[in-house]
Amino acid sequence: MIDLKRNSKKELVIAQGLRTKSSSIYSPNQKGDFKISRGKFFNFLCCKRCFYLDRIKGLESPGLPGWSLNETTDLLLKKEFDYCRERQIPHRLFISNNLDNLVPFYHDELDNWRDSLHKGLTLRYKKTNIILTGGIDDIWQNKISKKLIIVDYKSQAKLGRLDKINYLQDPYHEGYKIQMDFYAYLLLGMGFKLDATSYFLVCNAKRDDEVFDKTLNFDEYLVPYFWNINWIENKLEEMINVMNSKEIPQSNLSCKNCAYSEQYAKTIYKEINPDKIEIQGSLF
Ligand code: SF4
Repeated sequence: MIDLKRNSKKELVIAQGLRTKSSSIYSPNQKGDFKISRGKFFNFLCCKRCFYLDRIKGLESPGLPGWSLNETTDLLLKKEFDYCRERQIPHRLFISNNLDNLVPFYHDELDNWRDSLHKGLTLRYKKTNIILTGGIDDIWQNKISKKLIIVDYKSQAKLGRLDKINYLQDPYHEGYKIQMDFYAYLLLGMGFKLDATSYFLVCNAKRDDEVFDKTLNFDEYLVPYFWNINWIENKLEEMINVMNSKEIPQSNLSCKNCAYSEQYAKTIYKEINPDKIEIQGSLF
């Protein structure tokens, strides 16, 4: 996508492709604390090279547009659940899903844990200088066992009814499970007891309505997921090794962005070197 750089007054400025905030850049083997968010950890899992170029070399990749419709469902759900949280009563979805022993979890820090940009759940990784963070959508609590239940809101617009069994088998939803596993890792590390089941609260906008009439109607689904943190520490160790290395790691060969950059570089190279018919090897 085309992402033009603008300043705080929304004026176009020259894009440098580099980060300016030094606290966002890690120096291999640095002693000071460094935060790694759930999103950056996910980037590491998708492509070690992009993670390295971003966190260690300070390259700024193009951004994505805001998801304001999705954010709106999150915001309104938050209001609904906060109403029940203050009163410690079950939400309507708990009743309709035979989960009336649940209530939204109350904690003084909850707003901070939900603030993925500035705070989030926070955990120092073992005795390292790496501080792991992750902004959750919600936490519910089983009133009997007192265990906490991690919840993530998802909004989508797909035709027909959602298949709850296959929802998490979709390769495009692989990251959702990683997200939940990571939150479970953080909360357990922070000393909380967790229920083995977490939930995705999926809001599916109904595309088969006859008219819009200023209303988007949604179906709601609770998709259970048994989180698993067994894989996380190996990957965190791998990530820290990459961060402390001077070598730029391999790229992900399925990435369209890198393929585009390569074709872009080759095209420009041919333009300025018209006599050279073929470029030997890969530019990257
Ligand atoms: S393959 Fe290239 S563009 Fe794609 S994520 Fe990795 S480094 Fe970034």
